[in-house]
Amino acid sequence: MTDGQERASDASETFALVAIERRFAVVRALWDLTSHPNESVSFAALREQAGVRDSGQFNYHLGKLAPEFVRGDGDGYHLTEAGRRVVGTAVSGVYTDLDASVEPRSAGDCRVCEGTLELTYDEGVMMVRCRDCERRVFDMSTPPVLVAETDPEDLSTVLWRHAMAEVQRMNSGFCPYCGGPLDTAVELPEASDALNDVDIKYGCAACERTFQWNVYLAILDHPAVVDLFHDAGIDVREFPLWKTFLRPDLDGRIVERNSVRVEVTIELDGRAVTLTVDDSLDVVAHRTAPVESTD
Ligand SMILES: [Zn+2]
Ligand SMILES: [Zn+2]
Repeated sequence: MTDGQERASDASETFALVAIERRFAVVRALWDLTSHPNESVSFAALREQAGVRDSGQFNYHLGKLAPEFVRGDGDGYHLTEAGRRVVGTAVSGVYTDLDASVEPRSAGDCRVCEGTLELTYDEGVMMVRCRDCERRVFDMSTPPVLVAETDPEDLSTVLWRHAMAEVQRMNSGFCPYCGGPLDTAVELPEASDALNDVDIKYGCAACERTFQWNVYLAILDHPAVVDLFHDAGIDVREFPLWKTFLRPDLDGRIVERNSVRVEVTIELDGRAVTLTVDDSLDVVAHRTAPVESTD
């Protein structure tokens, strides 16, 4: 077994510990009765909040939850960090059938076929794709609770902010699933020097998930790019990602294969930012220049 598989099997035992409704009720009761990590709750108060009458049975379940999720001391019981995470994940709706979906809504024009882009949300994934040529522009795992609790009018903006936060999280090297460190690699195509054919691969050594996206997403939160958008009146935290694909002109190429160097140029409102990244996506050079008008 690999480390990742071992961790997954440990996780399934952990999951079984709280999957019993009565045990989850204990964890939830502790959550409801406490507001900061060091606060403790007495046995009697906890049993009452969890709604378990039989004190022997309650004690049994409490024992099963310790020490991973619940710990006791002279003052009573408190939640561990893992216990708090269990409640947070349950509330997010990821493990339940929290009914959150979105009627397809227009998200701008398709760059390829000039058809209509459509934003949808289903089964925990937001997606932007073209209704006409069916091209998938973007998708991102998004917690159902975010969709269920957001005013429909604000939904596009909130979904984008969430997507941007996830992009930044991955660009900073954190796995969106387990929080472990991500390895980043730039993969060059053999027969082409075109930017579109360059893939960025992310891999998590802890949970073994892999992800792939393009160079553009990987540099979107670089200060020089954020500044370029800001100068054009666009706050990248608020602006739908699929529109940032549409609005600027993107260009780039592989400049060196041995010690990998890929150049990306983003042009917007008369300015261009060019970044050069190495094989682990570190920006090794950048320059900003005005763009000559072609009028
Ligand atoms: Zn299209
Ligand atoms: Zn992971």
